[in-house]
Amino acid sequence: MAEARTRVLVLNSGSSSVKYQLLDMRDRTRLAAGLVERIGERTSRVEYTRLTEDGARTREREGRIAGHEEALRAVAAELDADGLGLDSPELAAVGHRIVHGGRLFDAPTLVDAAVEKEIERLAPVAPLHNPAGLAGIRTARALRPDLPQVAVFDTAFHAHMPEAAARYALEAETADAHHIRRYGAHGTSHAFVSRATARLLGRPYDEVNTIVLHLGNGASAAAVRGGRSVETSMGLTPLEGLVMGTRSGDIDPAVVFHLMRNADMSAQDVDVLLNRRSGLLGLCGDNDMREVTRRSDEGDPAARLALEVYVHRLKKYIGAYTAVLGRVDAVTFTAGVGENAAAVRLAAVEGLEGLGLVVDPRLNAVRDRTPRLISPAGSRVAVAVVPTDEELEIATQTYGLVNGQDTVREGTT
Ligand code: ADP
Repeated sequence: MAEARTRVLVLNSGSSSVKYQLLDMRDRTRLAAGLVERIGERTSRVEYTRLTEDGARTREREGRIAGHEEALRAVAAELDADGLGLDSPELAAVGHRIVHGGRLFDAPTLVDAAVEKEIERLAPVAPLHNPAGLAGIRTARALRPDLPQVAVFDTAFHAHMPEAAARYALEAETADAHHIRRYGAHGTSHAFVSRATARLLGRPYDEVNTIVLHLGNGASAAAVRGGRSVETSMGLTPLEGLVMGTRSGDIDPAVVFHLMRNADMSAQDVDVLLNRRSGLLGLCGDNDMREVTRRSDEGDPAARLALEVYVHRLKKYIGAYTAVLGRVDAVTFTAGVGENAAAVRLAAVEGLEGLGLVVDPRLNAVRDRTPRLISPAGSRVAVAVVPTDEELEIATQTYGLVNGQDTVREGTT
């Protein structure tokens, strides 16, 4: 009898890393997970964890891995050693996280030559990520040519934002010629988390309005009205919006030409400054929120100011998105900082009682990996913490597509 094809391999290929998970979609369990990091550097690292009911077993090895193709071959070899390789008959598809899907892709998409070409065409707006995603697709196909490859786009959830939110007030011809508009990112997470929030409230997804605050190393806010993203803080690229680990988020665009004219900086220099040397790192020398809060608690003035700038920006977005949505049912925190930094959550809603936002300090202090409310019972606006799971969302969308189910709007998670 033929084996049921119930497994999905999820690949998240970044500029110098590949994260992966193998899931069994019958019960959504993880069979294996890991990453390859420092690709292209002198000592790359391959980490592989086999997950079973009895626990986790991790293998690690170091050595130079020149590129994404070699990285994926290393992942395949690790999976192979446990009988979980790409040639196993249970594998239904590979789901790839693709950062930029432009305006064309608003749903998970089966990859063919035309789709590949389009992902390639979008590389100028995601120069570090789209080529890595493509390398993942090409290598997986070389290893197992008959296997469906599904692209799940970070921009897809935002693809139908109202034009008023997506348009920049730029000269229209120039904007159109260069495809300049708000595309957003973190869409897979915003979709997963807003849907989980509706479930937490016990209400239909299409009736709930949520502000999702995805606060990781990269950070973005989204206003989700009835299951649809209507506004988000990242723009043409992930640089716009909230203060992030190393990205500035919003600045006056004139800062760019001011620096180019007066500080002898090239476009590339300013790019590096804003993307890699700004944000929390630029303000206080640390981009890890654990370190920033620790130093701030000890009275370090730079760390304290960094935290104040971070929280001030968050508050502005909560206020703005309250206005965009009109009625807000929930504000949900997610990702590394959102899920773990109780002090940041508390500070972000402090003083917003007028908007119906209150956090119960006792509930906020609880450490838990399950979705939960941190606002007092009966609050006008629920404040929630929902751990994001982009890999599970990618696997769900991928599996849904190859099985002919529409998981995009409805979702089964
Ligand atoms: P990304 O996927 O964008 O790399 P994550 O969502 O994993 O990021 O978030 C990473 C960030 O989360 C870290 O840089 C750190 O600042 C923050 N973080 C993780 N754990 C904690 C914690 N216990 N307290 C505060 N911040 C934390």
